[in-house]
Amino acid sequence: HTILGLESSCDDTAAAVVRQSEGEVPEILSSVVFGQTELHAEFGGVVPEIAARAHAEKIDICVKQALEQANLTLADIDALAVTAGPGLIGGVLSGVMCAKGLAAGSGKPLIGVNHLAGHALTPRLTDGIAFPYLMLLVSGGHCQFLLVKGPEDFTRLGGTIDDAPGEAFDKTARLLGLPQPGGPAVQAEAEKGDPKRFRFPRPLLDRPGCDMSFSGLKTALLRARDQVVAEKGGLTTRDRADLAAGFQAAVRDVLVEKTRRALALYLAENPAQPVLAVAGGVAANTAIRAGLETASDEMKVSFTAPPLALCTDNAAMIAYAGLERFRLGHCDDMTLVARPRWPLDKQAKALLGSGK
Ligand code: ATP
Ligand code: FE
Repeated sequence: HTILGLESSCDDTAAAVVRQSEGEVPEILSSVVFGQTELHAEFGGVVPEIAARAHAEKIDICVKQALEQANLTLADIDALAVTAGPGLIGGVLSGVMCAKGLAAGSGKPLIGVNHLAGHALTPRLTDGIAFPYLMLLVSGGHCQFLLVKGPEDFTRLGGTIDDAPGEAFDKTARLLGLPQPGGPAVQAEAEKGDPKRFRFPRPLLDRPGCDMSFSGLKTALLRARDQVVAEKGGLTTRDRADLAAGFQAAVRDVLVEKTRRALALYLAENPAQPVLAVAGGVAANTAIRAGLETASDEMKVSFTAPPLALCTDNAAMIAYAGLERFRLGHCDDMTLVARPRWPLDKQAKALLGSGK
């Protein structure tokens, strides 16, 4: 099957073509991403209206380039997959309308994809891992442990009760005067700093279960920064690096410890398939990846992390998630709606109480 995927749920406009033949590994024939970082730079965060306009302007050219790079025309495509949520509604609408237009014009099937399913299925695209596996999905807007049993079968075992770590990285970058997106900038600073100089809290580690909290960490960082500024009148390069290092170490420690607990829960039910996979933008963080890898080794679990470009938003993951649905015969039609909110798991609450 050959699927054209479209993604426009946040601040990247993307299109990609993914192909998988019967019994073969999936292949990314093209993956085009137009970022919007410069458009939002002066505002210190993504501005929904600006994002929506940029998606509407860029999506057609993005599709054209993805087809060209794959050396294909629309006639060679079996189905169109598009992110139908969750995300900024203006952007999601741009993608869904473009995909509907292409589907109507070509007579090809239309498949709505949950953006989070795209992230969560990426390790199957990049490493061909089999179901089930434990997924730590850690991104700009989400942070959750998912038991993944099938392309549409996700059970949430726990996750953040407030902010996502990506958000915390972005906020930290703003507080330290670093550029957006904050993750890569904070990581680069942290590599030069001493993680022990500032001791930030590790929230909820004293409580059982695998829920997490990151909002207090931002406040702690703000307080530490203001104290240094009050004492010295400003931040030195050293201070900035040490604050970044302290922050990153706290996020890493929480994620690693909670992953151990989620793995223990997962392994109790799925001892024959000891696999941890990560996805989402924060999974691009070297220190966090290393911590998760060590924990996996210690627990004799195999660890999979997609290449960096497939951790952050892209359309190859959407095309692939669409391909998995297509294989099941699960297509949508012109009634497909764009959804700002769209939780992945249907049954988790019933299985695990509130999850807290
Ligand atoms: P979601 O997928 O939850 O809807 P999103 O699509 O905005 O949110 P992603 O594109 O998956 O999120 O990830 C972007 C986030 O990842 C940003 O918050 C960014 O700061 C963070 N990020 C990217 N690289 C790194 C890194 N090296 N270290 C930490 N965080 C990173
Ligand atoms: Fe994302």
